[in-house]
Amino acid sequence: MIYSQDKVLGMLWGLHTGDSLGAPLEFLPPSAAWNQHTEIVGGGKFNWKAGEATDDTDLMLCVLRSIETPQKFSFDILKQEMLAWFASEPPDIGTTTVKGLRNLKAGLPLRECGFVDEKFQGNGSIMRVAPLSLLDEQVEGVYQGQSIVSLQEVLETQTKMTHGHSYCVEADRVLVAALKAALQGISKSEIYQVALREAQKQSRLLLQRVQDVPTFSWETLPTSGFCFDTLCAGLWAFLSYDNLPDSLVAVVNRGDDSDSCGAVAGALCGAYYGSSAIPERWLRALEFRHEIESLLKMKKLFC
Ligand SMILES: [Mg+2]
Repeated sequence: MIYSQDKVLGMLWGLHTGDSLGAPLEFLPPSAAWNQHTEIVGGGKFNWKAGEATDDTDLMLCVLRSIETPQKFSFDILKQEMLAWFASEPPDIGTTTVKGLRNLKAGLPLRECGFVDEKFQGNGSIMRVAPLSLLDEQVEGVYQGQSIVSLQEVLETQTKMTHGHSYCVEADRVLVAALKAALQGISKSEIYQVALREAQKQSRLLLQRVQDVPTFSWETLPTSGFCFDTLCAGLWAFLSYDNLPDSLVAVVNRGDDSDSCGAVAGALCGAYYGSSAIPERWLRALEFRHEIESLLKMKKLFC
């Protein structure tokens, strides 16, 4: 299925917007009410330039470049892109991603690269997975001349290239299902029902977490780097406000893993409201605004 230009651009520009808005607040405590951060200005622990992409947007672009058509996904391109990014020595890179990419570089099978230990349940895959929502259910994933068929197989392999724990795969499945629903233009409550149904197929713990989303307030919302927290923070921001800017400002000002929570919230809000909902002053700042648009156009990933 091909979705509208406004929604597809909205999803990926929204992801970049949430990432760049949240980057200066990463690792910080929640902002005080009088000191809310509302502009893309850069700064933070890694002294980001205004609108500079962090690992969330960089790795999302690796996934996007690996889509040949909605029916064909190249793991050879994805491996090459991820290793080229790794070799560029990005300033902010998660420990689980580092371990996975070292295994990928060493030539391990794709699904054996990510660590499965319970210490490695981070959000390094969910923050980059959004472009997979543009693939058909019967997509063919190709690697070294071998192929796997189905979106679920492609998604699981993509996750396990860096994140082997089942929770990371589960969180990715729920986000991609919710993004597909948002791209289709159904209501917010129906999108939330899609997320709940997908979570129910995964695990009792994830279902419980997704069920708990409406019970959070801004003051109690977890925004850690645990993949379930990042998924739920994105869903909470999307469901709790009636416009994209308020959702993103709220979630990134919770601090902690603000850029990744902002990226997931931005993808959901952008897919739902469309690109026109992102303020032009934010879009103007984005490092990869035009690259995202031209990749989507070149690959004919919207109509
Ligand atoms: Mg980041």
